[in-house]
Amino acid sequence: MNVQYNLDLTEYNSYRIHSVARVAYFPESKDELIDVVQKKHPIIIGGGCNVILSKDIYEQPIVFIRENYSSIKQITGEQLLVMAGTDLKVLSEYAFEQSMTGLEYFYDIPGCVGGATIMNAGCNGVSFGDFIDFVTYFDVDKNKIITKSSNDLFFQYRGSQLSVMNIVILEVGLSLKIGERECIWKIMQENKDNRWRKQPREYPSAGSVFKRPAGHYVGPMITEVGLKGYRIGDAMFSDKHAGFIVNVGNAKGGDVLSLVAIAQEKVKKMYDVNLELEQRVI
Ligand SMILES: Cc1cc2nc3c(=O)[nH]c(=O)nc-3n(C[C@H](O)[C@H](O)[C@H](O)COP(=O)(O)OP(=O)(O)OC[C@H]3O[C@@H](n4cnc5c(N)ncnc54)[C@H](O)[C@@H]3O)c2cc1C
Repeated sequence: MNVQYNLDLTEYNSYRIHSVARVAYFPESKDELIDVVQKKHPIIIGGGCNVILSKDIYEQPIVFIRENYSSIKQITGEQLLVMAGTDLKVLSEYAFEQSMTGLEYFYDIPGCVGGATIMNAGCNGVSFGDFIDFVTYFDVDKNKIITKSSNDLFFQYRGSQLSVMNIVILEVGLSLKIGERECIWKIMQENKDNRWRKQPREYPSAGSVFKRPAGHYVGPMITEVGLKGYRIGDAMFSDKHAGFIVNVGNAKGGDVLSLVAIAQEKVKKMYDVNLELEQRVI
């Protein structure tokens, strides 16, 4: 297994926040992954596209579940078995190649299958959980590998039962449909173009900062309370899409968290709405 010491994490989180992991593990097999989880009690990071690194130095080991732990197997014409570190773009392209429809909206969502399962990532009213047949995970507290059908995992907006458990996702079974390749490609491209038009892709970010509260839109609320373009250190509420915090230079996790706290306070005061963080603070 590849083990790195004093690893600079800048390239391992989409905010491009600089911090250092004293030790980082990159397991390549189920045995290696479970062994390191049992022995080291690590922090888990997939693509690092939905995390805020709050520390300058991580003394607790970090395990990366990304391209080092990835594969896609076609089980039947409409079913895939994917390892947790598989990149969503690679997965979406694979499904397109096989004329499988369902994953076209994940073509432009950065990150890996494990992260997308934990977060129940989605856009345009489509969520990753919609396509999950079963999830196999290592339950750290029970010290065993468990496979559960998606019906028993209660996927909901940006979460599921898995989000609050002490587990590591190993692999995911997906159920798709056979579709028209041209149509699949068109949705992939149109969705990507739309998102790039609306989102501040010119700066590092981790997507939407907050979950969308019922009956409200976060971006307009942040604009209304006067925080669009507001900056602390090098972290700023994007002036293109105020639901995103962007790193305009060398932002620290603390800068991002200060913006989060100010937005929560102002939105609560003006709208009596509690903004809940979508991004995970580690
Ligand atoms: C430009 C941009 C646009 C985005 N747009 C969207 C969007 O439209 N919709 C959306 O939902 N999200 C969006 N996101 C956020 C992000 O892409 C998704 O949440 C994605 O699913 C995160 O996957 P990840 O592998 O990067 O997870 P990470 O950020 O690495 O991890 C997220 C959480 O999952 C846990 N985790 C990761 N892998 C595992 C595993 N194998 N087992 C157990 N726990 C694990 C981590 O510990 C952490 O708590 C966007 C991000 C960016 C940068």
